[in-house]
Amino acid sequence: MAFDAVRYSRQVRFGPLGKAGQERLAQSRVAIVGCGALGSVSALALARAGVGMLRLIDRDLPEVSNLPRQVLFDEQDLRDGLPKAVAAKRQLERINSSLQIEVAVADVSSRNAGRLLEGVDCIVDGTDNFETRFLINEVSCRDRIPWVHGGAIGAEGRVLAVRPGITACLRCLIPDPPAAGSLPTCESAGIIGPAALVVGAVQAAEAMKLLVGAADVGNALLACDLWEGAWRRIDLSPLAEAGCQTCRQADFPWLEGRRGGTPTALCGRDAVQVAPAGAGEIDLTSLAVRLRGVGRVTANPWLVRLDVEPGIQLSVFGDGRVIVTGTREEAKARAIVARYVGQ
Ligand SMILES: [Zn+2]
Repeated sequence: MAFDAVRYSRQVRFGPLGKAGQERLAQSRVAIVGCGALGSVSALALARAGVGMLRLIDRDLPEVSNLPRQVLFDEQDLRDGLPKAVAAKRQLERINSSLQIEVAVADVSSRNAGRLLEGVDCIVDGTDNFETRFLINEVSCRDRIPWVHGGAIGAEGRVLAVRPGITACLRCLIPDPPAAGSLPTCESAGIIGPAALVVGAVQAAEAMKLLVGAADVGNALLACDLWEGAWRRIDLSPLAEAGCQTCRQADFPWLEGRRGGTPTALCGRDAVQVAPAGAGEIDLTSLAVRLRGVGRVTANPWLVRLDVEPGIQLSVFGDGRVIVTGTREEAKARAIVARYVGQ
């Protein structure tokens, strides 16, 4: 595939990338899992860098407290009630019309992870939870797809690029994910926008290096603390030499459903996700009609949103998931879903 020589002239002039590297980027397919803070930044950087295809996977809607760091969204997106992945596509199309963009408004789970991540050359982690990260890690190791893990909290960030079977994988670094609620979250510890921007940018750079086959990618954990002004590179080659059950012995407990479950509280949000009770797609059109008499309804091809009461909203997605915003109480969320959606 040819690329626009004028548009990418400054990247081509960068020796380690060059014309051959830019051509590789133009042929590359990248999945972004989670279009929040890190996913926004890395998608933006990779779209501008000239990759051929981005697959944007996200389960959620943008909200006002996202705007300080989720650079793909603006106030209009909040008013439009579009899912993050769809709003992100709209923005990225304005930036790069030759970029092919696929959208999946979905929650990555053991049932769909393999399908959602198939056929890509690299996966970028824009998630906020360890279950999804371990699912990505196992798909990566099973299908030999490199991926870039990232995390940001407070003013700190970390990035790990994984070349399956060659460098340390996520399980090599973290044999057991921490128990839910045991770690600080963006909600409890807060986060400054620049920390997310830095981590997303480093992830995009690591992804570009993986895509063009640069040497020495992924042999270290990159960590920074922007408030302290500290940057660290932690050598992981001893871990890579030892390997783990996932990257050496094809043990995939998360993909096979032996670990994990359905998370309900959404990190950093005053919201609860209620998993679909039944299988199959929901008829959003008739649901929107049913709910019209109940309160203000916003409907689009991906979801139906209902203002249940002041401060409480219900969003029903086509795959049957429901997100209740304005509460963190699982029981209350389930009651609202039962009342209006009937799950
Ligand atoms: Zn491993």
